[in-house]
Amino acid sequence: MKKVVALAGGVGGAKLAWGLAQILSKDELTIIVNTGDDFTHLGLDISPDVDTVCYTLANLANPETGWGRQGESWNCLGELKELGGPDWFNLGDLDLALHLERTFLLQQGWSLTAATKYLCEKMGVVHVVLPMSDQQVRTLVSTVERGVLPFQEYFVKYHCEPTMTGVQFQGIESAFLSEQASTALKECDIVIICPSNPWVSISPIIEIKDVKSILSTKTVVAVSPIIGGKTVKGPAAKMYAEMGIVPSAAAVAEQYERLIQGFVLDIVDEDQMQQIRQCGIIPFAVNTLMSDNSTREKLARETLDFAERIKKV
Ligand code: GDP
Ligand code: CA
Repeated sequence: MKKVVALAGGVGGAKLAWGLAQILSKDELTIIVNTGDDFTHLGLDISPDVDTVCYTLANLANPETGWGRQGESWNCLGELKELGGPDWFNLGDLDLALHLERTFLLQQGWSLTAATKYLCEKMGVVHVVLPMSDQQVRTLVSTVERGVLPFQEYFVKYHCEPTMTGVQFQGIESAFLSEQASTALKECDIVIICPSNPWVSISPIIEIKDVKSILSTKTVVAVSPIIGGKTVKGPAAKMYAEMGIVPSAAAVAEQYERLIQGFVLDIVDEDQMQQIRQCGIIPFAVNTLMSDNSTREKLARETLDFAERIKKV
């Protein structure tokens, strides 16, 4: 039996994780998710990327946005606005229930890993979803216009408009992988870095103690979140440009250079294959846009087959 770990952020990561989950059993696939986006809002502990992955795997996600719940209502948020409360973060009524229950569990002393496992069971998620750490890691985005912003303020309140000058992960030095995440990573054969934002979704996971050294013993394949120099959604391309790097699939491959052996890029970026080869990475070009369930599953299968082919012996 092969064992695969997928590293994921939110929307892009969740889509490939869903595809992988159609192919691999719960004993074969574990998904480790970024928690750098987590924050406390209105007294609630919110884990946006973990929730996006869980809702997607449970087939509960809103297909239009990729995040949040399908069939969502917004009564509470509307009333909160009337009351003059902070209404910048989109909290639907169904989504709120999850945050209430998670916050309650954490207040009872549960770890985020245990709370996620419990909530996954309740939502009917079959595969194991693990927050990257049970310690608090908080992504902070340094910006020209608004100074240092907690990630959700940068992302949601200011719509990623401020110019990024850097990113830091507060608490990362004292965070460690949960026992479950550590075991899953150590026991797996293949690690797939999902097409998530390299700056703020994948970096926090990779920067956790021991992750790089465990990855160095595995076959690691990344899927590009950049297609034709653009992001499908979100600020990744803008972040590359603001950090002085021309956004491209090759730029993503170079960022992961010391971590990966294989890189899946889109057919439209085929001309970058030579550049990627020169970094010592094996490129593989396919259609990487996951516009529906069948393209999610197809990309997952192609990525898995590619990883098998280049697997370290
Ligand atoms: P977030 O945490 O919700 O921002 O989501 P992620 O970090 O997991 O994913 C954001 C990235 O996913 C963006 O850079 C998108 O370009 C990428 N993405 C979204 N959908 C797709 C897709 O269908 N194919 C590929 N290759 N990338 C995608
Ligand atoms: Ca995210």
